[in-house]
This record gives sequence, C-alpha cells and structure tokens, in this order.
Amino acid sequence: MSQSEDNLLKKIIGHAKEYGFIYPSSEIYDGLSATYDYGPNGVELKNHLKRYWWEAMVQANQNIVGLDAAIFMHPTIWKASGHIDAFNDPLIDNKDSKKRYRADVLIEDYLTKIENKIAKEESKAAKRFGEDFDLDQFRSTNPRVLAYKEKINAITQRLKEALEQSALKDLKSLIEELGIADPVSGSKNWTDVRQFNLMFSTELGSLSGASNKIYLRPETAQGIFVNFLNVQKSGRMRIPFGIAQIGKAFRNEIIARQFIFRMREFEQMEMQYFVKPGEELDWYQHWKEKRMKWHQTLGLGQDNYRFHDHLNLAHYANAACDIEYQFPMGFKELEGIHSRTDFDLKAHEQHSGKKLQFFDPIENKSYVPFVIETSIGLDRLFLALLSNCYTEETLADGSQRTVVKLPAPLAPIKAAILPLVNKDGLSEKAQELFEQLKFHLLCQYDSKDAIGRRYRRQDAIGTPYCVTVDHQTLEDNTVTIRDRDSMEQERVSVTSLTSVLQEKCSMVQLLKQL
Ligand code: ATP
Repeated sequence: MSQSEDNLLKKIIGHAKEYGFIYPSSEIYDGLSATYDYGPNGVELKNHLKRYWWEAMVQANQNIVGLDAAIFMHPTIWKASGHIDAFNDPLIDNKDSKKRYRADVLIEDYLTKIENKIAKEESKAAKRFGEDFDLDQFRSTNPRVLAYKEKINAITQRLKEALEQSALKDLKSLIEELGIADPVSGSKNWTDVRQFNLMFSTELGSLSGASNKIYLRPETAQGIFVNFLNVQKSGRMRIPFGIAQIGKAFRNEIIARQFIFRMREFEQMEMQYFVKPGEELDWYQHWKEKRMKWHQTLGLGQDNYRFHDHLNLAHYANAACDIEYQFPMGFKELEGIHSRTDFDLKAHEQHSGKKLQFFDPIENKSYVPFVIETSIGLDRLFLALLSNCYTEETLADGSQRTVVKLPAPLAPIKAAILPLVNKDGLSEKAQELFEQLKFHLLCQYDSKDAIGRRYRRQDAIGTPYCVTVDHQTLEDNTVTIRDRDSMEQERVSVTSLTSVLQEKCSMVQLLKQL
C-alpha cells in the first residue's frame, strides 16, 4: 500500500470511530484482533445496505425468496460441503519476525508490484508522447512492458498449478526463487508452507468429545442448500428460483488486517439461484451483469469496479469471478459470483441419504438443479461506501470541512432538525417538527453550538439534509432545507416537509435504476 493509500485508510478508521460508525471490538480490553463493533451510525448504514440488497433481490424478483437459517448446523454438512477437508489456506511464517502470512497472498502481492511497474511505464510514456500516445500499441510493443507481462504470466501459471495441486513445496520454492521478503522485517528466512483450516469449532451441549464438535458457519450458503427442498415445496417454487439470506459468517483468517476488509466475524449477503442443468453458464452471465449493475447504482464511480476471473476454481465451481472494487489499498474482492454446479446438493444427498431434487412437471422428471451463487461481504461493501464517500473539502471562504457523501437513501440520519437559535420559541417549533417526522424518517434534533458547527457535525456523519427553523418559520410556517453536498438552501412549507424529505431519501430512487 502506498503511503497516501495508507493515510486514507487511517483517516477513515479514525473518522469511523470518532463519529460512531465503527469501534474496535472489546476496546477497553485492548481490543480483539479483526473484530469490530458497529456504532449508532454504523448500524444504521449497515441496515440500509442490507435493506437495499434485500429489496433488490427478494422484493424486486418474483422468483427469489428469503431465508434465515441458524448459524449452528449439523457437523456433517461441513464434511459434505468439503470445508472440513479443503477449506484451508496455505500458511507460512517468517522465522525472524515471527509474522505469519498466506503464501499465495505474498506471491499475489509480488505480482501486484510488477503490475504497478507496468502502470508506471505507461504513465511515463503517456507524458513523453503527449496526445499522440497510443496505449494499446505501447502495451503490445514496448519490450520492458512485454518482459514484465511474460514474468506475470509465468508466475501466475506456477501459482495456479501449485494451488490446484496443493503443492505446498512448490509455493515455498516460488517464494524463495522470487526472493520475496517479509514486508515487515525484510527477512527471507521462511518456514515450510502448511495448510491451515479456517473454520472455528466449538462443542454442542455439556459433553466434550469429537462427536459433539460443531462449527461456526464459514459461509451462509450451506444453510440455503440444506433447506432447498423445504423452501421449494413450501413456497411452490419452480426452477429457476433463488433463495436469499443475510447473516454472520466466521473464518479464522490467518492474517486479518485492513480494518473491516478481512475480519474473523463478518456478515454475508448471499443468493443461491437454482437452475436447470446445462443452463448454468447463461445464468452465471446474467447474474454477473445484474450484480455489477446493482453496484453501479450506488454512484461510487464506474471505473472503481472490475471483474476478475478466478485463476484457481474452487472444488465446487465450473466458472467463478469476483467483482473487485478499488479500495484505499487497491482493487480487491467485494463480491463473488460462482457457478457452483450441482456439487453441494449432490454432496448433501450423498451424506444425508435424502433426495434433494426438483420434479419438473413439464418434462415429467426429477433432477438435481445447478446453482449460481452471488455472495457479497456486507462489511466490505460498508468499507467501499465509507472510503469512497469520505471527502475533505476546502470551501470558497478557505475553511475546511469533512463530509461523508453517502447516497441519501443509505445515510444513517436522513435529516437534522436545527433551531437557528435557542430562544424566541424556535426550539419548541423545531421539536414539533421532529415529532412530525419521527414516524417517517430517522432524524436528529440538535440545538447545541452555532449553526455552522452543527452543519459540520451532520456533514461528518453523512446527513443529506439539515432543516433549519428560523424566525421566518414562525411567520409563514416555512423552513429551509440545506443540501449536504451543494450546501444550497431551499425554503419549503412545513406542511410538505415530510413528503419532500421522504421523496428525497427514498430507496425507490436506487431500485428504479436497476
Ligand atoms: P478472499 O479471497 O478475500 O479471502 P473469498 O474468496 O474467500 O475472499 P468468498 O468465500 O467468495 O470470499 O466469500 C464471499 C464474500 O464474503 C467475499 O466476496 C467478501 O466480500 C466476503 N468475505 C469473505 N471473507 C471475508 C472476511 N474475512 N471479512 C470480511 N468479508 C469477507
């Protein structure tokens, strides 16, 4: 991460804590690594994100329904899904610094460095050639760029093979050959690479022993698969149909850094779409496009997203990609779209001895459907929004403000109700307005400090509208609405205030763009 990217992330972490979005968990006990608590503004933003996803999935699609499965499940589920045997990450320790890393991530970071070198060559050349610069031609002919690309391809190929074959020795050789050093200490004194299972386990009931071992789910998907027939039958669903679920997942990540990007307890929003065998790749394409469009409605900038096809397909997939977002630390996975074949349902049939098939009345036969999964990390989505919307501005009068430019439908507080001064009956009138609005929108009443400081406080938590009650309000029953981003004010009548604000903050604005 460059210094400025690192600084931006630090600023966001500081801002998130100061303004009640996110606190480190168990802070008075010096924290617990990679776990975070969402404060009053954080929980509101998170709830709005869940609602936007849920409405886009369940409300806007006739054939997608919801589910809320338990976190604890029968332990054989994790045997069937492959998580007990294969949900591993390759782990490597540096003997000098005693720091632990994911071997594949060390190699991927090395690849990113070469990509950065290519980008540097390109920007140098663009400056040198000015308007005549032809980027495509430069990329396909410049010897230095070509050599870098060749190196990337060779390393990528070896990494892919080593991961596919779980060839841990090859991963270590690759790290040694590339001369990869511990990013913290610079030491190249590495241990062997070992596999590390990411599932947390605990015991059910009061008896200990292997038979009582259960797991905290590492993904919400399996709760959907094992309920496939319950949902299909009780909802009389016909293929294709989807089941959506939002819930916690737990992974004992080897390294969990970068704030809420990689946590050990996090939330997923997953949708499993059950389709006819043979049609899965068309649906895979369909959901790739649909999900990208959903992201784009958030207004974080089209260029900040890209697809990344998986090099190393998971044991259950026949196609998979990530939607990556440009976080402060670079392009990283935000959502996974996976064509999971019939792997999970078939595995559960085998392990449970129960049929998990759909009877197709038109074809008059039963089959195990194929599955397309869309899986997004809610916390990562939160980080994408916070880091993108966090803005430091210098205003025309030279003063500074920090403003979080969240889309209005997602903002924690929709409107602040502010009496201009605390006398002449203005606070009473403002309180009255609060009472008028409180059943429709989450508002905040604030009468402390000068009006300018109150505006700044609301800017910092992303409140899109400030409603100010002034002396004119008492004369003509109008108030001003200040827009957070333009800082312009309009006067509206108190009688239309609720509907004006509701309209401006409605989630329908986002849903209609889908
Ligand atoms: P990564 O490669 O970053 O470890 P993954 O490919 O293992 O992620 P998936 O299993 O596809 O992730 O999980 C689906 C989504 O869940 C991811 O796109 C991500 O948004 C989220 N997610 C996964 N692991 C974490 C984590 N440790 N903390 C926060 N979100 C996570």
